[in-house]
Amino acid sequence: MTQSSPDKPPARPISAFTTRPAQFERAEAGEEARQTARDAFEAMARTGPVTPRRLAERLESQGLEHDDPRLKGTWAALGRAPDTPFDALTFCDCLPRDECHLVSRAVAGALVTGEFGPFRQRVYDLFHYASQETGGQVAAYIPELAKADPDAFALGGCTIDGQRLSIGLNEGDETREFCVQSVMKPINYAIALELLGEEVVHTYVGREPSGQSFNEITLDRLRRPHNPMINAGAIMTSALIRPTHDMNSRFDFVQRVWRSASGGEASSFDRATFESESHHADRNYALAYFMREHGGFPEEADLFTTMELYLRCCSIQTDVRRLAAVAATLANGGVNPVTERQVFQRETVKDVLSLMLSCGMYDFSGEYAFTVGLPAKSGVSGTMMIVVPGVVGLALYSPRLGAQGNPERGVEFSRQLVRSFPWHVYAPIVSDPNIAR
Ligand code: GLN
Repeated sequence: MTQSSPDKPPARPISAFTTRPAQFERAEAGEEARQTARDAFEAMARTGPVTPRRLAERLESQGLEHDDPRLKGTWAALGRAPDTPFDALTFCDCLPRDECHLVSRAVAGALVTGEFGPFRQRVYDLFHYASQETGGQVAAYIPELAKADPDAFALGGCTIDGQRLSIGLNEGDETREFCVQSVMKPINYAIALELLGEEVVHTYVGREPSGQSFNEITLDRLRRPHNPMINAGAIMTSALIRPTHDMNSRFDFVQRVWRSASGGEASSFDRATFESESHHADRNYALAYFMREHGGFPEEADLFTTMELYLRCCSIQTDVRRLAAVAATLANGGVNPVTERQVFQRETVKDVLSLMLSCGMYDFSGEYAFTVGLPAKSGVSGTMMIVVPGVVGLALYSPRLGAQGNPERGVEFSRQLVRSFPWHVYAPIVSDPNIAR
């Protein structure tokens, strides 16, 4: 069990993926499940009568929500007679077998963050700290984006155990929808990897940081875009997604992946931004022509439909809660923590996170990798996702961007995050006594 309090961040090593033991939970049946339920009952009984209300409050305090499909039967059972105490037997009878393990871990405070309350509070404190950052400008080169409220600020989180948090600075921020813009890049890259495999994908696109701005007209030595996290590379990965299919089915396919990674909630499409950007896409067309001139596209791909798919994907709309679930799916090795659906293969996630770490923040990526040391991806709408492998996925929205096109508050939040939690990829070198003798 991990311990956590505001002054003592969790000491759990975070270098490896530790996915939820989903198979084990499903397999746990009969006597074993009853024993797990009995343990949970006894743990709760030590501090008072075990009522449905107390158990519900305990689950909520651990970040487990009422729409959680993993606890469907439990929530249904807890809705009845909230203040009538259970005895051990009725408690064990009312918990569905395949839900006992999660309930008992939550009761014990043994989910990935340890006690969730202090963890969430610390994250919210960092959010408020970052809200004091008021530098930067809203992106104006896409007219529709220029309408964004510069002061909006929201944060969502989802751990690999499916514990959720979200907060907004101003009224309505927490549920505000925004388009993903460049945060589509890791997803289109992941889809291309799933469809074609790493070897094929990387004959078309490199995996080296470009060191240049996100829409620079430049290719690598092999005349490929430098990586999938900048515009040229994402135009290329869009070209690789079922190029012979019609536009609607290609875009539906991408949206289904977003939906699945978001935990089953559909993402909408911001038509106004799509049209606005389509009329101001000279630079992106220039990139596409440049790549076509160098014979970069696969034979089946058409430049115009590729551009349409790319721009549509940039205009997929979401909110911080759904985006946090996408980040959590990556943190959890490709399995959405709440629905337990395998969205991406682990190998795919490894590749995606590697490039988010080295290239996810445009020409600020080296600085970000140095100071923050986490895979992240930003977009010019002001959104950003941060992945802490094996722990949590976080999503932010704050439209004011710094010089390199990253949300200023998101960057400040990231810096503070790794001061509070040992999550920089090399933090264990400093904090883990087992590494250096
Ligand atoms: N749609 C934007 C563009 O193509 C995406 C860029 C970004 O978010 N940095 O310019």
